[in-house]
Formats: sequence, structure tokens, C-alpha cells
Amino acid sequence: MRFFTSVHLLLLAYIIAALVYWEIALQKQSAQIYAGDITILKSQVDSLHDPGIYNQRFSSLRHKRIMRTYQFGGEGTAFLIVILIGAVVVYTSFVRRITLSRQQNNFMLSVTHELKSPIAAMKLNLQTIEKHRQLDEGKRIELVERSIKEANRLNDLCNNMLLISRIEGRQYKPAKELFDLSEMIKDTLNDYASRHTRKFEKDVTPGCKITGDKMMLQIALNNLLENAVKYTPADKPVHITLHKKQNAAIIRVADQGSGIPDNEKKKVFNKFYRVGNEESRRTTGTGLGLYITKKIIRQHKGRITVKDNTPSGSVFEIILTM
Ligand code: ADP
Repeated sequence: MRFFTSVHLLLLAYIIAALVYWEIALQKQSAQIYAGDITILKSQVDSLHDPGIYNQRFSSLRHKRIMRTYQFGGEGTAFLIVILIGAVVVYTSFVRRITLSRQQNNFMLSVTHELKSPIAAMKLNLQTIEKHRQLDEGKRIELVERSIKEANRLNDLCNNMLLISRIEGRQYKPAKELFDLSEMIKDTLNDYASRHTRKFEKDVTPGCKITGDKMMLQIALNNLLENAVKYTPADKPVHITLHKKQNAAIIRVADQGSGIPDNEKKKVFNKFYRVGNEESRRTTGTGLGLYITKKIIRQHKGRITVKDNTPSGSVFEIILTM
């Protein structure tokens, strides 16, 4: 990268220097032509004897010289602009390519690591069961359950990675369907309430209709709810609100869990990022949920942020244009 930048700058400097040199040489040549023309004029017409003709031809030669100066200057400037535009286009496309290949490399490295750890854990559990045939029933069930958990993690990881490759693909464009966001949130909460013993409190303004990819926004909402459930003690409620403000729909998912430290608030939206506290380590996860959520919201030209809840926990806020 640095090598390309240096070579690119050197070449550019050489081309510009050559252009300036040509420009100066042309202007000099034009001055010489002008001086030659004046000498010829003086030898042909006597300025004292025939001042009318002399002055007329003199001003025509001056005019020609001025026109040449403008012509060379204009052509030189046009060349310079074309060269600079070309240099910027080449440089930005090179940088884009390098960044993309770096991102792909980083992604492959982290994916390999993330895929390997559940596979290694499952293998170890199965080998333990195989080696110690007389293992007591409780221990065996525990190992099988741990393996199932790891298999589920692997499954989530694969699903999330497929989703990421879909939404990161250039050909993906979010669907544009008009739907009732209030209904979607209410249905989702009813579904969560039927699956969990925890309390889900809601304050949903009815009739909020937006245009977007319903399935993707459902995934984004599910990710926030899953996290609120995952990182909050079972006896604490999760609070969801939907409000209209001018032409925006504001969704807030608030929990009373461990919260997210200020210096981690931006990082939690990064790919594979998990806060390194006990809460995160005790829970399984891929570190992709919030990354996917942010991507989806961005593709809908919306915004997602996280703030502290009072007295504890986090509030995730999504703003979507209606
Ligand atoms: P995952 O939950 O699979 O680890 P996410 O991308 O959904 O991945 O979240 C990234 C990290 O952000 C989590 O590992 C966790 O540390 C933190 N986090 C997300 N939501 C919450 C929440 N509601 N409360 C506390 N921490 C959270």
C-alpha cells in the first residue's frame, strides 16, 4: 500500500513536472516566434514611413501571440485536470480494493476462529463420553447438553454469516413494502411473552406505518429483544416503546441488566465484538447480532444508538423515517 502510494505520487509528480516543462518550453517558443515575426515586420515595413500598416501588422502579431499564450495555457490546464482526475480515480479504486481484501481477510480469520471453537468443544465432549463409557448419567447428560449448546451456537453463527453475506452483497437491496410497525412489534412481544416467564412491558403507539423490508426489520428487533433477555436477570422486565415524532418512528428496547460501559457502546456494533465481562462470557453468542442490526437499520436510512438505562441496564434506540 505504502509502496503503491509512493510510486503513484512519484509518477504523478513526474507527469506534472513534464507538463510544466512543456508549458514553459511552448511559451518560450511562442515568444521566439513573436520576436522573429517582429524582426521580419521591421525589415519589411518602415514604421516611420508607413506607420498605419506597421501598427496594424504589429497588433495582429501581438494578438496572435496572446491567443497562443491562452491556447497553450488552456490546453496545459485541461491536461492537468484530466491527469489529476485520473490519478484520484486510480488511487481511490486501489485503496477500495485493498480495504476490501483486508476486510475479507480479517473476516475469514475471525470466522475460522469462531467456527473452530464450538467444533473443538463438541469434539472434546464426545471424546470424553467415548473414552469413559462408565461415566455417570448426570455427567453424560451434562456433556451432551453442552454439545447441543455448541451445535446451536454453530447453527446461529452459520445463519448470521449467511445473513451478513446477503446484506453485505452489493446486489442486496432492502424490499420496500408498506407495513404496520406497531402490529409487528405487538405480535413479536406476544410471541416473546408466550415463550418466556419474564415480563415484557410495552407502550406502542398504534398505526405506525413504515416502508421497508419487514423480514429484515423483524430480525433487527428480535436481535435487540434476544439481547435484552440474555443480558438481564430473569426477574427484571424488558420495556419496549414505539413512538412517532414528526415523520420518524422511534423504537426503544430498555432492560435492567448489566448495562454497557461507555467505552464499549460503539464497539458492540462491530463484527464479532463481545464485551469482555462476566455477563457476556456466561452467555453464548456470536457477537454478530448488533452488527447485523446496525447494518439493517443503516440500509433503511435509520439510526441505532445505545444509552444507559436508569437505574441500571441499557436502552437501544432505533430511529426510522416513516
Ligand atoms: P452476542 O449477543 O451474540 O454476543 P451481539 O452483537 O448481539 O452479540 O452483542 C454484542 C455484545 O454487546 C454482547 O456480547 C454483549 O456483551 C453486549 N450487549 C448487547 N446487548 C446488550 C444488553 N442488552 N445488555 C448488556 N450488554 C449487551
